[in-house]
Amino acid sequence: MPEPAAILQMGPIGPHLDQQLGQRGKVLRLWEAADRDAALDGAAAGVRVVVTSVRLGCPAPLIERLPRLRAICSWGVGYETIDVAAAKARGIAVSNTPDVLDDCVADLAWGLLIAAARRTAAGDRYVKDGQWRAIGQFPLTTRVSGKRLGILGLGRIGEAIARRGAGFAMDVRYHNRRERPGVPYGYESSLVQLARWADFLVVACEGGASTRHLVSQAVIDALGAKGILVNIARGTVVDQEAMVRALAEGRLGGAGLDVLEKEPAVPPELLSMDQVVLMPHVGSATRETRRAMEQLVLDNVDSFLAGRGLLTPVHVG
Ligand code: NAP
Repeated sequence: MPEPAAILQMGPIGPHLDQQLGQRGKVLRLWEAADRDAALDGAAAGVRVVVTSVRLGCPAPLIERLPRLRAICSWGVGYETIDVAAAKARGIAVSNTPDVLDDCVADLAWGLLIAAARRTAAGDRYVKDGQWRAIGQFPLTTRVSGKRLGILGLGRIGEAIARRGAGFAMDVRYHNRRERPGVPYGYESSLVQLARWADFLVVACEGGASTRHLVSQAVIDALGAKGILVNIARGTVVDQEAMVRALAEGRLGGAGLDVLEKEPAVPPELLSMDQVVLMPHVGSATRETRRAMEQLVLDNVDSFLAGRGLLTPVHVG
């Protein structure tokens, strides 16, 4: 009898992780199986660890199929595609990869903020298309430094975004469900109030059902014609239809978006808007950070297999 797989890997995650995981025990690489159902049936009784990502997920029916499962180690900080409640009910621990990606996601948030305010993507096209020579002066844009920065979700990434605000002499306030003691930023218990106050509203809270369309029509209206919305969290947090309408009608000043509601689908109206800057969901996608995320998944697997529990467990509820 061949040794049963102790680890189930749902899909390819990154070269470092994909290559190193096999040194931790026998791995069922599910995406390589000709018949995934049969492969799962064959390995189910032996699997103790699932290695997955926020994109690949780990739904309740899969958890139910794995009677000896004890840990789910996920790549990425969001975990809305993993049924954490079903795992918790079975005493299965879940880990993600927090902290190591904060700086890169915060950097991109600022890149989008500056690009939307100063229209750097449009300016780049202007120069490359020969319009600078043909038309001359590029239209005036919006000042960044010294403005008001509102953050929806002052967690790990939100705080890294807020810290960078000091370098731009910005006044920073935030909205969470709970006020955070000991942070040097003003708290707004109402998101609409925060949006009314802010010049820039950056979305950095978690995704999933609990935050769906938190940035509603009312929040967008409060941000207003001079306001700029930046989203590096999840597309679902913003009422995208309301946002597109407000941008098209000039009721929202601009947007910098790393994430969209039904990505990779892009609302066609956004494609021709110079006041909108788009990125293809790449907040953490630098070589350095992706490597660190892969290593943190491996460190979690190692710690679990050595009987020391997960290093970065997800805490919910
Ligand atoms: P975190 O430390 O858990 O912070 C999340 C923050 O959101 C907390 O401060 C939380 O405060 C707040 N929040 C949650 N639900 C809320 C609600 N209903 N209303 C208001 N505030 C709420 O998470 P993180 O590590 O900073 O990551 C944040 C998110 O960024 C992730 O969940 C992920 O979706 C996204 N992300 C995107 C990329 C990318 O590539 N673009 C990369 C990494 C992460 P309270 O609990 O007090 O409400």
